[in-house]
Amino acid sequence: MLNRTRFYFAALCCSLAPAAWCGAPFSFDSAPGRLPKNVVPLSYDVAIVPNADALELAGTESVRLQFRTATATLQFNSLNETLSHVLLDGKPVKSVSSSDEQQLTTVTLTKPAIGLHTLSFSYNGKIETQPQGLFAQKYTKSGGAQGVLLSTQMEATDARRMFPCWDEPAFRAYFRLTVTVPKSWATVGNMPIARRTVRGESATVSFERSPKMPSYLVVLTAGDLREVSATRGATRFGVWAVAGHEQDGAVALASAQDILGDYNDYFAYPYPLPKLDSIAVPGGFSGAMENWGAITYNDQVLLVSPSSSMQDRQTVFSIQAHEMAHQWFGDLVTMSWWDDTWLNESFASWLAAKETAARYPAWRWWEEEDESKESAMAADARATSHAIEQHVTDELQAANSFDSDITYSKGEALLRMLEAYIGEDVFRQGIRTYIKSRAYSNAAAADLWNALKDASGKNIPAVAAPWIEKPGFPLVHVTAACDSSGNRSLTLSQKRFLLNGADATGAQWQVPLRIRSGSAAPRNLLLDTQEQKTAAGRCDEALSVNADAVGYYRVQYDADTLAVNTRLFPTAVDGDRIALLDDQWALVGSGESSLQNFLALASSMGTDRDARAWQQILRALAVIEYAERGSPGSKAFTAYARALIKPVADQLGWDAAPQETPDVGDLRDTLLRDLSRWGDQATIDEARRRFAAFVQDPQALSADAQSTLLAIVGQNADAATFAQLHRLAKDAKDQTFLERCYVALARVRDPDLARQVVQIALSDELPPQANTLSRRLIFTLAREHPQLSWDAYIANLDHLMKSVASEERPLRIAEQTPAVYWDALPLDQLEAWARANIPPGAYDNLARGMETAHHLAAQKVALVKAADAYLATATHAAR
Ligand SMILES: [Zn+2]
Repeated sequence: MLNRTRFYFAALCCSLAPAAWCGAPFSFDSAPGRLPKNVVPLSYDVAIVPNADALELAGTESVRLQFRTATATLQFNSLNETLSHVLLDGKPVKSVSSSDEQQLTTVTLTKPAIGLHTLSFSYNGKIETQPQGLFAQKYTKSGGAQGVLLSTQMEATDARRMFPCWDEPAFRAYFRLTVTVPKSWATVGNMPIARRTVRGESATVSFERSPKMPSYLVVLTAGDLREVSATRGATRFGVWAVAGHEQDGAVALASAQDILGDYNDYFAYPYPLPKLDSIAVPGGFSGAMENWGAITYNDQVLLVSPSSSMQDRQTVFSIQAHEMAHQWFGDLVTMSWWDDTWLNESFASWLAAKETAARYPAWRWWEEEDESKESAMAADARATSHAIEQHVTDELQAANSFDSDITYSKGEALLRMLEAYIGEDVFRQGIRTYIKSRAYSNAAAADLWNALKDASGKNIPAVAAPWIEKPGFPLVHVTAACDSSGNRSLTLSQKRFLLNGADATGAQWQVPLRIRSGSAAPRNLLLDTQEQKTAAGRCDEALSVNADAVGYYRVQYDADTLAVNTRLFPTAVDGDRIALLDDQWALVGSGESSLQNFLALASSMGTDRDARAWQQILRALAVIEYAERGSPGSKAFTAYARALIKPVADQLGWDAAPQETPDVGDLRDTLLRDLSRWGDQATIDEARRRFAAFVQDPQALSADAQSTLLAIVGQNADAATFAQLHRLAKDAKDQTFLERCYVALARVRDPDLARQVVQIALSDELPPQANTLSRRLIFTLAREHPQLSWDAYIANLDHLMKSVASEERPLRIAEQTPAVYWDALPLDQLEAWARANIPPGAYDNLARGMETAHHLAAQKVALVKAADAYLATATHAAR
């Protein structure tokens, strides 16, 4: 799954949890879960007749069961379903009771059974309007008429909303699905269609039997859909979209074939299904879901239209690469239980990044990924952070075991660090062994670590354990000593890196360091004690203890080494430079280094164009500029920041150079937006001139240039320009362009126009498939108008959250409220409001958000002081 809300409820550390899930390989009998394991489903036959208008469905179901021990009681999951005609082997059972609160149905037999039996029943259920179980999604067709399609989102625990089932990942079974829909509709499931029978206005479609898989991978999509398709090797590929948009699937269709070929090689285990469909669901569904054989995507992250920018294309490719990695890691081999959600998500994130970097070297993808690693490290530097592996006591909490920073990005970074430690080929060999030995079954983390241990001969379980069982990560201190001939020796030590305060637990890690002196190839060193010594080149060479920014740890150099690194900064290896900037900015945040040290690095960039390094500098400057707003030093700081970035902006200009790489285009966008935000009149004037030309001739502006230009124009809009932009949004035929225009409106600085944005965001002029847009507009407003945005947020919470699945809603409120509104009102008031609007189960999430909010508020004060002091010295003059 990708981009869904990812939060955790439970937070037990490994040592407190039952031994069964700690460090042990997978075993069905000891896999956690609520359902008894004495009766297991072998195969399901499910037939449903959905009524999309009434939001109801009628179904019949037959499940082949194995009674492993004699019992007269069966228990399985159900939600909002009423069962009738419940029979075992065609004979009535004694009693049936369902509890929606427990999400369980209990069937009592007339006498104990053992061996093979068939349970059958009829049932009625609900079609949802949010992405949980089977849901109906409304959308506006190209001609303006309203359409509806049906799709599913089962992960984590919502298959039970479409049909009663053993809805835990260890219960693998075969699924055979039949659905009756209007005959004009297309239907897509996990497997190819076996039979289609038309009767009157309806068609009944049966899909071939699925492989043995967990229930959360079942998929069904039905509606006025069309496809583009191709066959390569043994696999048929289809990309589906609502009628009229199928040609926008052509790019994804080509990519899917490339990626599948690469993964067939990587895993040395060919994709086992006969087909792989990709389905563009209009709105309603954020992100994507790796259903085996038929991946569902929000249409905005699958379709590429003429309005799509390079960034949009990168998103499409990297999300496809993520979901397709799950076809092996998640689908063919499934985590044992929701404790190990990270096994799926970390691996898919890591392999997607590797695949994207390999297919498109010019995208410099690992540098792009550095941003998500930084976000993970910021979250993980909180005292309230949690471990990658967490015990989920009850599968009802599993929907929340998806945390973008920790489950996805920290896990991705950990796998990358381990791969660098044991080597790419050895790592791949371990993965191949793991996939082959666990195919069509489940696995726990220990299975993966043991496979990597066998491949490498290194004690991977011991190296990996602290990284997944403990929250946080180390700060490595580096002290250099020089001998009389200038040779350098290092003393390395570690402690947990925290934004605030000190770690009282004495946590330690086995840290796979990569050390580079000068421009030599990096050398691996495992820091596995409190303090360690090693030789490292010459004292007058630049030093990186996190070469190429591969490691998930921070480094603090002694003053002399930092001075050498600062002096040699312009010529450093790109990855080393990125690592140094990342660390120095984080150390400013934790109070362990001065802002002056960071700005000294920024100043020595000159007109070097390394995009990721500049992005990191710009992000820091933007934080300081925001902190300075309204303070006496604000004007001086924005002048300083403008002067620092203007030479690079001038060098890049407004128009892309031929053969320009995407990271340079992204850098141009950020520079222009910042110059506008920081009041550079020449930039604002040029944006207006180009906007006027664009209004006259839409061809005058490439898709890549639109977002930034519209953002600048929107930010500085007067009433007439605002109306013009609003008209473009309302008239937009293409949703990518439509969203671009609306978001540009929400950047407006003028307070009266900002109030209009609130009205627009809450109006029904936004099409139903853009149902996350209203929330996005209100949040975008918060940057310039925090109070206005906050008032709109709390007054319209239900409306703004209506597209969010019900279990996720409190968690999303807990996380987003402090993240967006930390500067809108006093933090005690903000926290009180949030607590009153979420259940206690989400308080841990709120605590994490509040820790960040308090940190940002304190940092704001500290940065103003530090920046003013820096500007008061003469050292920066003339820059
Ligand atoms: Zn995923």
